[in-house]
Amino acid sequence: MDYMFNKKIETISRNKILEIQLKNLKQIVHLVYENVSFYKKKFKELKIIPEDIKTLKDIRKLPLTTKDDLRDNAPFGMIATSMDNCVELHASSGTTGIPVTACYTPNDLEIWSEVMARCLSMSGLTNKDVFQNPIPYGTFTGAFGFHYGAQKVGALVIPSGMGQSERQLKLMEYYSATFISGVASYAMRLAQVAQSLGIDLHRLKVCNGLFGAEMFTPGLKKRIQDAWNMDVHDSYGLTEMCGPGVSTDCDVHDGLHLWEDHFLAEILDPNTLEPVGPEEEGELVLTTLTKEGMPLLRYRTRDITKFYDQKVCDCGRTHIKHTPIKGRSDDMIIIRGTNIYPGQIESVLMKNKAVGSNWRMFLTTDDNNVDQLTVEVESKSLLSQIEQIALEKKLIDDIKSVIVFNPNVTVLPPNSIAQEGLKAKRVVDNRKKD
Ligand code: ADP
Ligand code: ZN
Repeated sequence: MDYMFNKKIETISRNKILEIQLKNLKQIVHLVYENVSFYKKKFKELKIIPEDIKTLKDIRKLPLTTKDDLRDNAPFGMIATSMDNCVELHASSGTTGIPVTACYTPNDLEIWSEVMARCLSMSGLTNKDVFQNPIPYGTFTGAFGFHYGAQKVGALVIPSGMGQSERQLKLMEYYSATFISGVASYAMRLAQVAQSLGIDLHRLKVCNGLFGAEMFTPGLKKRIQDAWNMDVHDSYGLTEMCGPGVSTDCDVHDGLHLWEDHFLAEILDPNTLEPVGPEEEGELVLTTLTKEGMPLLRYRTRDITKFYDQKVCDCGRTHIKHTPIKGRSDDMIIIRGTNIYPGQIESVLMKNKAVGSNWRMFLTTDDNNVDQLTVEVESKSLLSQIEQIALEKKLIDDIKSVIVFNPNVTVLPPNSIAQEGLKAKRVVDNRKKD
């Protein structure tokens, strides 16, 4: 069994978790009602008062909160405490529009460090590790969450920040880093840079990694595992909750444990907003149970996943598990009447050993007003023209088997798709809009 940072809480009985949740839910409902005018107004519209929340099921009486609500009240309209009590702010990466700002009290930072410490310990981090953190230190939550959590575990943190891939690799070698973190696609990018510099990753001391912050398919996870010869864990989180630290997969590698003493999770059908059935897929909706700076009720993450029905995992933890995030509901593309998630394309690509680390898809409309899909993908090594054509043909067939029509596929040499921004941009939609 892997090491637990807080065994008492991580293995607490289900009844006890539900008890803690109800107690904290009642408190948070009072807090936002009394301090956030947005919620006070919503409660009035719904004709409810905090005392109406008597059981956990009553959560369904509460209003949902959307990213647009946060944007409408930006930057500080959703803060539930005096700004004097806040000591740090962070903002989302802005992948889907204007970034969302969150403020933290000292207690919020403490809890964030605690949940991150649990995630990192679950991924193998101990106080003996040298932990390199190749994430930009700035308003983005990623670097600080990992930094605080790793220090809480007692590891030696190298705050290397993001970028300068060659420098990152040299630092890993120089300081004998044993554990690394990052945005999922960056781990693969680093592997490719190492290959081009002739650095053998298997000779480095790195043996564990915790990555996330964007679509992270099992195929990509396996790729990173093989390239670095390390155990890889998946880190899920979002600025609106704290940043990274909401959930991570244990050594069983079958689902991510979500810390239910701090976050109350529901999965709703994004269209009807009704709860889905057991083990059915839907939108993850989260309520913060302990936050003081920006507590949120029933926040619609737009991330698609499902819960596992099984309660106690083989690792001994009792906190609920969800499957790796399938994608954001707004990432779903409808092309020629078929619903596609970019993750489905990535899964096909990552299965092919000749495929490199970066890829993207373009959507266009042809002269006959028919949608076209073109997938651009890097090869792992430089290919001859014959090899390139053969790979393109193979990928067309493989992608067709999941999307039903013929895509165009262009195989490019390694390192030819430029990476812009923090998170990989996989979809470029240039279709004609009616
Ligand atoms: P944004 O990218 O929306 O501007 P954040 O920087 O706060 O905001 O990132 C949070 C979002 O990143 C999540 O809502 C989710 O869509 C995505 N994400 C984070 N971790 C993962 C993960 N492990 N797997 C898939 N998606 C993830
Ligand atoms: Zn487990």
